[in-house]
Parts: sequence; C-alpha cells; structure tokens
Amino acid sequence: MSLYPKVTLKPGRESSLKRLHPWVFSGAIQEADEQSELGDLVSLHDANGLFLGIGYTCSQSIAVRLLSFKEEKLDREFWRTRIAEILQFRAALKIPADTTAYRLIHGEGDQIPGLIADRYGDMIVIQAHTYGALRIAEELAPILQELTGVSSIYCKSAETLPDEETPEGYEDRFLIGAREVGPVEVLEGGLRYGVDTVSGQKTGFFIDQRDNRALIRRLSPGKRVLNTFCYTGGFSVAALAGGAAEVVSIDSSRSALFQLEANLKLNEFSSRHETVTADVFKYFEEKIQEDSPFDIIVVDPPAFVKHRGALEQGLRGYRRINQAALQKVAPGGFLFTFSCSQLVTQTDFQKSLFQAAIGAGRNIRVVAQLRQAGCHPVNLFHPEGEYLKGLLLYVG
Ligand code: SAH
Repeated sequence: MSLYPKVTLKPGRESSLKRLHPWVFSGAIQEADEQSELGDLVSLHDANGLFLGIGYTCSQSIAVRLLSFKEEKLDREFWRTRIAEILQFRAALKIPADTTAYRLIHGEGDQIPGLIADRYGDMIVIQAHTYGALRIAEELAPILQELTGVSSIYCKSAETLPDEETPEGYEDRFLIGAREVGPVEVLEGGLRYGVDTVSGQKTGFFIDQRDNRALIRRLSPGKRVLNTFCYTGGFSVAALAGGAAEVVSIDSSRSALFQLEANLKLNEFSSRHETVTADVFKYFEEKIQEDSPFDIIVVDPPAFVKHRGALEQGLRGYRRINQAALQKVAPGGFLFTFSCSQLVTQTDFQKSLFQAAIGAGRNIRVVAQLRQAGCHPVNLFHPEGEYLKGLLLYVG
C-alpha cells in the first residue's frame, strides 16, 4: 500500500530521482492515480513498482516536485523537523546581528521546491511558485512562527503562481499576524534599508546581492559609481557607505526610486547622490554621452531569459548592455555585472561579456565570479538552483 496516490514512471525514467534530483517531467510519467488533484501529495514509483519518493503535483512541464526520498508521512512532525533543519543551516551561516534581512527558505536549495521565504526583521514574506507550495506555506506558517518567533507572516504569491495554479479569488494576505502598511526597516551590514514587502518587487528586497554589495563597499572609496537597474539602491547605499565620491542610480520604476531616496535619507547619504528615472538601454544610448566615465559601474538587470526560446535574444541583450557599460568605465575601473536568468549558464554569460569586451575594445581581467548569497543555497543535486551569475571585471 502506498501512503499517497501513486504515480508510476516510464521504464528508465527513474534515473534522475535516483540522483536525488527533485523534478519529474510530465513526459516521464507512465500512469497517475486519478484520485490526485493539483498540489496533492503523491508517491512516486519506478516501472517495477519500486518506491522512489514523495512529491506534490504541478500543472506545467515539471509535473511533480519531490519533497522526500523516504517512504514517510509528511505530517506536522515531518515539517517541524524540516524547518528546524533549515533554521539550523541559517544559524550555521553566522549571519551577523547587523544584518536582519536574509532568505529563510530557498525552494529546491532547502528541499521545499517552489517555496521562497525571506526574513525581514520580525516579519517573514513567503512566495509560492506553485499551488502545491502555497498549500505547504499555509501548513508551515504556524511552525515557522513558533520556531522563529516572528510577529507576522505575509504570503505574496499573486505574481509568482502560474495562472492555472492560482485559486479563485486568491489575494496576497497575512497568514499570521499583521502589521501596518509601509516599509519594514532592515539592516544589511549595519546599513538601513526600508523594504516595501507588500508592493515592492519580489518579496521587497534583493537579498541575494548581499555579498556583492559588501564587495562594492570595499572597492568604493573616492570612486564615481554608476548603479544601473538600481531598484531601491542596495548597491548605491553600500558604495556611499564605502566612501564613494559620487553615485548615480538609474531605474525605470518610480516607486523603487522613491524607496531609494528614503534609503539614502535613512543613512544620511543624500548629498553625494543623483537619481535618474530612465530606461537603462536608452540612457546608455542617449544621455550617457554627456557623462564622464565612471570608476565603477553596476549592471544588474532583471532576467532577460525567462524561457528557453528567449536564450539567444537574452544573450544579445546582455552583450549589448554590457558593451555600452564597458565603454563608460574609466581605465582602471571595475564593472560589476550580473545575470539572474536561471537558464543562462556562467559560461554563456562569460561569453556574452567576451563579445561585449571585443565590441567595446577594452582589455579585461576577471577578478571574481560572483553569485547569490549563501542564504540562497544550491542543492548539489539540483544545479539549476545556481541562478545568479556575476562577474567582477577590471577594465584596463
Ligand atoms: N541591484 C538591485 C536589484 C535590481 S532588480 C538591488 O541590489 O536591489 C532589477 C531592476 O531593474 C528593477 O528595479 C526594475 O525596476 C529595473 N528595470 C527593469 N527593466 C529596466 C529598464 N529597461 N531600465 C531601467 N530599469 C529597469
């Protein structure tokens, strides 16, 4: 007897699960018990009936996401143990007390596929990318509160759930507690940032860039810095804290820039800063001619490649924006450049920078390969989790 409705794989299609990869594609499925509905737990078996794992069903090409490779009941005790283990990992990271924003649950990287949770001071913001993860979030909320002691947990999944997995009438809401509207204030490396958890992008703050912001802080003394795709100014505030002579920040989102201005005030950095509301591509084509070169440029655009079909065009986008940026780096300066497209590999990204450097006619040293902060871990069995790729380039 299987614990959950049974899903049987086609012969030979069990190999990725044996390598503990947490995804089952729809094409690998031979037969599924008709009792199971979207988001339900199912028990996976190979063509010979051998148990493989337990997961939840999804509507898209990834048909099942795995939660356990053991034949066990996924009850409250199971989830308590899993959350405790996840918190133990965060504790092992020794995130210092001057940093109160960090990722608490990173989907596949923490063995809860499809579920993201970010901690902002005494609040947690959850994003479910599947209906199955949404149900898990609701089950986990009281456990998360009990084990972390936060006062509120907000579920912000309207923009992350696929249409066909969004329950009718779904609205973002507090699962636990509530707080008054307005940004929650967090610290990162002792710097103050307001995070608009309700109407900001993603969960409100790009925590994944924490280590890279610490790096720009170190390289900034006396420098002129251009922060493109700046959002609420994470890199701008860090550069100013490091002693940058001047920072120019550009984004097309007025609400993000409004929060950036507030963040500058919180840290008393308003005087050495200029805010530009613009499309970065247009800025590089037009307005930048007027600006003299910058000692440090940050290029951190949104994901250009959201599906496989967009790969070529996306890579051209990375090439174009980086070529323009490289032309504006002063000799002896740095380019911090990123891709957060999961489908673009580090090799692809480096190749597009290679082409950009040829186009810009600059001599480049790779100083470091950059990645997401450690609180966004990659499950070794799920290399797709390595989504943020970056390069720190010295531009001769
Ligand atoms: N580096 C930031 C995060 C960047 S997120 C941080 O550390 O917080 C990407 C940002 O790019 C978003 O703020 C979005 O508003 C902005 N954006 C997207 N397309 C843009 C465009 N064409 N021109 C300017 N900004 C853009």
